[in-house]
Amino acid sequence: MRLSERDQQVIWHPYTQAQLSGAPIAIVRGEGVNLFDDTGNKYLDAVSSWWVNLHGHSHPYMSQKISEQLHTLEHVIFAGFTHQPAIELAERLLSILPSNQNRVFYSDNGSTATEVAIKMAIQYWWNKGITKTKIIAFEHAYHGDTFGAMSASARGSFTDAFSELLFEVIHIPLPLKGHENLTISILQKEISESGNTIAAFIFEPLVLGAGGMLMYEAEVLDQLLEICSENSILAIADEVMTGFGRTGKNFACGHLTRKPDIICLSKGITGGTMAFGATTCTAEIYAAFLSDDRSKTFFHGHSYTANPVACSAALASFDLLIKEECQQNIQRIASSHVDFVTRNQGHKILKNLRSTGTILAMDIETVEQNSYFHSLSTRLYTYFIDQGIILRPLGNTIYLMPPYCINDQELSRVYAAMESFI
Ligand SMILES: *Cc1c(COP(=O)(O)O)cnc(C)c1O
Repeated sequence: MRLSERDQQVIWHPYTQAQLSGAPIAIVRGEGVNLFDDTGNKYLDAVSSWWVNLHGHSHPYMSQKISEQLHTLEHVIFAGFTHQPAIELAERLLSILPSNQNRVFYSDNGSTATEVAIKMAIQYWWNKGITKTKIIAFEHAYHGDTFGAMSASARGSFTDAFSELLFEVIHIPLPLKGHENLTISILQKEISESGNTIAAFIFEPLVLGAGGMLMYEAEVLDQLLEICSENSILAIADEVMTGFGRTGKNFACGHLTRKPDIICLSKGITGGTMAFGATTCTAEIYAAFLSDDRSKTFFHGHSYTANPVACSAALASFDLLIKEECQQNIQRIASSHVDFVTRNQGHKILKNLRSTGTILAMDIETVEQNSYFHSLSTRLYTYFIDQGIILRPLGNTIYLMPPYCINDQELSRVYAAMESFI
């Protein structure tokens, strides 16, 4: 039996309606931007395998560093014990994160990174004896699939079955261009009506990923953060997708003048090689958990917290990310995207062309209302797969988020495929 047939006997895939989907493609090997299936077909990974891959597949330097660590120490309990890769990674992350970040708490994926952030923010106030438990988030937000992360995310098809069980969150509209003042006034109104009960504002800085690659400006986010700060509301930047160069700077928060109190990291942190997450916070937040009273401890941890192999993968990816070559690649991709947007501006069918750093997105205008289940989505996906390109539209939104090692020819090939579909 072929791999895809065996798969269909035993496996349940994420975000997949098995009854309506074809057999999955079995990938046997990866190299650079390409993936190869079991019949020898080649696919250009234009979505970085769900936004995680930074330096290409099976990168020799990454493999070497991970392998070395595996031969030295594969794992150790992280309560009462520590190790060099975890310490070095924390030191290096803090050296490039906004300067107010002071402590690193490890977990193992993006949803846990945001769960940790939300729990950290709420317990911060609890430890100080202040009752503040409400959370503010953006409409269209996506913060993960665990219950806390789902609660903070937009409500819709992903969360309908659980709506009774999710905690209440104040959702404010996204400050899209031209709508900034509306968001600001709604935030002010929600704060004044809340009677000082809001613990934190969680947001995806500059780009909302799963919500449809929606983009907004750093300037208005700075204004929102200023209002939060004036009202003692902690700012949680969910950089799970935007981190590690995606927006053209190491972190999207690097585009801001204000600094968030808590930052969530995952996806690109290991260059796309291993599941890993981190939540960082200020010295002030960390200090609120220090006490002779053990009840103020942060009672949170995962079996694989700070896994040394994952930390080594993150260190190796960090080495590659800060190299001049990688930084230049990021700028090269960003300016190609800008050219694509300029070239197709005013297009009859491609609407809302937009790019932030290495992320390019556009909506295809149709009579059908946009939704995640838009019928165009499957047609687009199949069209690109037939051309040997992996693009996974969000409804009628096509986006491109390539590994940074993609070259100009490969980029042009993807642009051409997008233009030819139209
Ligand atoms: C993907 C994502 C998450 C969830 O990460 P997982 O590793 O898939 O759990 C959280 N926040 C943002 C912004 C994301 O893009």
